[in-house]
Amino acid sequence: MTDRAPQLVERSLPTEESRQLVALVRDIASREIAPRAAEEEEAGLFPREVFTLLSGSGLLGLPYDADHGGGDQPYEVYLQVLEELAAARLTVGLGVSVHSLACHALAGYGTKEQQAAHLPAMLSGGLLGAYCLSEPASGSDAASLRTKAVRDGGDWVLTGTKAWITHGGIADFYTVLARTGVEGPRGITAFLVPGGAEGLNAALPEKKMGMKGSPTAQLNFDGVRIPDARRIGDEGQGFAIALSALDSGRLGIAACAVGVAQAALTEAVGYAVERRQFGRPVADFQGLRFMLADMATQIEAGRSLYLAAARLRDAGRPFSREAAMAKLFCTDAAMRVTTDAVQVLGGYGYTLDFPVERLMREAKVLQIVEGTNQIQRMVIARHLAGPETR
Ligand SMILES: Cc1cc2nc3c(=O)[nH]c(=O)nc-3n(C[C@H](O)[C@H](O)[C@H](O)COP(=O)(O)OP(=O)(O)OC[C@H]3O[C@@H](n4cnc5c(N)ncnc54)[C@H](O)[C@@H]3O)c2cc1C
Repeated sequence: MTDRAPQLVERSLPTEESRQLVALVRDIASREIAPRAAEEEEAGLFPREVFTLLSGSGLLGLPYDADHGGGDQPYEVYLQVLEELAAARLTVGLGVSVHSLACHALAGYGTKEQQAAHLPAMLSGGLLGAYCLSEPASGSDAASLRTKAVRDGGDWVLTGTKAWITHGGIADFYTVLARTGVEGPRGITAFLVPGGAEGLNAALPEKKMGMKGSPTAQLNFDGVRIPDARRIGDEGQGFAIALSALDSGRLGIAACAVGVAQAALTEAVGYAVERRQFGRPVADFQGLRFMLADMATQIEAGRSLYLAAARLRDAGRPFSREAAMAKLFCTDAAMRVTTDAVQVLGGYGYTLDFPVERLMREAKVLQIVEGTNQIQRMVIARHLAGPETR
């Protein structure tokens, strides 16, 4: 019951190629990722070699163009791959999602020369990326960020502090949003900073409640000098680029949440049919049967919601509102489902002998990252009622 491979999920995949892809991912997840997850999470170990394996297998650039080393897969396929990875270990699923987020600026807004120079190594050359928007004093209000980039001849010099950076200190490249002009969203520009840049230093990783294997760290930019050739998009376009990356990234978080919830349900069902009380399996009691049914229904609803948003994206239609809805619903559902899974296992659910307590701790972070669920509600409401009036 400790194998976190999800119980058979009836997936809707568009092609035979995508079915084989998901089968490959399940195989890697059950052999290389799930068996080490509990121990390494407890010890706070990041599985870098798993990311090298995923990159070599073409799984770090799935939604991007094959011309640059990507997998040319639609989002509806990429997200189901993420779901499988997150079900095996959130540090890996979320890590792939963050890497993809970090590639978004260059793939969507870089020049042909920039893309040719950097994308192949980022998408399938073994590199690992990070996305640097948040700062100590600007989280939800991301447009108030203060990290500065100042022109100096043909270079830019970056100074400031980024906070909460997933893969902070271990990434090979950082997509960084920095202020180059006026206060507010119009004064922000995107840059691609190499991991080994002089003046770039990471603090010790935060001590977190869950996902301890995934390093989250502050980054200090102490006069980091990079050439103008590493500026992505126009000056002042950075915040729009950051928001567009987050629309797609939120779908990744939604898929990861469904994976974590599915893993918890698998554990709960497996336990409930084995554990006997009052002379019968506890799965016989309607109180638990209904709980399991509700858990499964929330998972299916979440999966349908993220897939509906992904299919809009794949069709080139607007999907920002639907992405926010999917992130909100799936991550709240994952919190409820993992909490119920602990309940189904009774006292054992509260111990480290079973993974459900870890899944519950992991689910919590998904309600916070890439825009808290309060911010998702603001995004959805703006689509309904327009911007707030002050
Ligand atoms: C494990 C982890 C990994 C992360 N990885 C990254 C990363 O890779 N890159 C990156 O840039 N960031 C990352 N983050 C940062 C994350 O995106 C922020 O934590 C998040 O956006 C919230 O910002 P904050 O923590 O500053 O909270 P705050 O913005 O200070 O919010 C505090 C509370 O106030 C609420 N709130 C704020 N404004 C409003 C409002 N207008 N209406 C209603 N409620 C409001 C929030 O919902 C929250 O409950 C990560 C965070 C964590 C915990």
